[in-house]
Amino acid sequence: MNLNVKEIFYSLQGEGGRQGEASIFIRLTQCNLKCTFCDTDFSVGIDMHIDHILSTIKQFPCKWIIWTGGEPTIQLTDYVISFFKNAGYLQAIESNGYTKLSDWLDYTVVSPKGNTDYAKKINPQVDEVRLSIQRGDAIPNVEEMPEAKYYFLSPIFTDGRAATKTNIDYCVEQVKLHPKWRLSLQIHKLIGIE
Ligand code: SF4
Repeated sequence: MNLNVKEIFYSLQGEGGRQGEASIFIRLTQCNLKCTFCDTDFSVGIDMHIDHILSTIKQFPCKWIIWTGGEPTIQLTDYVISFFKNAGYLQAIESNGYTKLSDWLDYTVVSPKGNTDYAKKINPQVDEVRLSIQRGDAIPNVEEMPEAKYYFLSPIFTDGRAATKTNIDYCVEQVKLHPKWRLSLQIHKLIGIE
């Protein structure tokens, strides 16, 4: 069984409910969306057998995998998830939520994109909802979102520092207005790690 992999790297989770935890990131190619603010290159990868992925990640002293992308659910099957579970790994996913997430996963993050109404219908319950926000975006009621432990507003980081600060300030204002949401900053970008 092969997966088309953009990159594998070891770092800290930079955002959300597991922020600061060491994690092995496996970025898969392909996405079903084309968000204008997308900051991730997931276009071209290499085919890797899951045995090869396992031997690659064994070099890291960590048992948490984060499946990310692109949209990882396009390639990630229950078979693959159970393969890594049987090898002793805990697995988180970062998904746009257009696909029902596997029950085999240990931590699920949904970041609804565009019209967010679909998210709750497809995944009624997740660990974390994380919404990428720029100034002026509407903030949904958490009741309209999947049931979750955490609800995060994540300001979109742009190339321009002023625009990024505008988005951060907007998220701070919105969290104060809608306190069921929390602020999540992409600290990996702030501290200059991958
Ligand atoms: S869903 Fe995520 S990976 Fe896909 S285009 Fe949008 S921001 Fe990029």
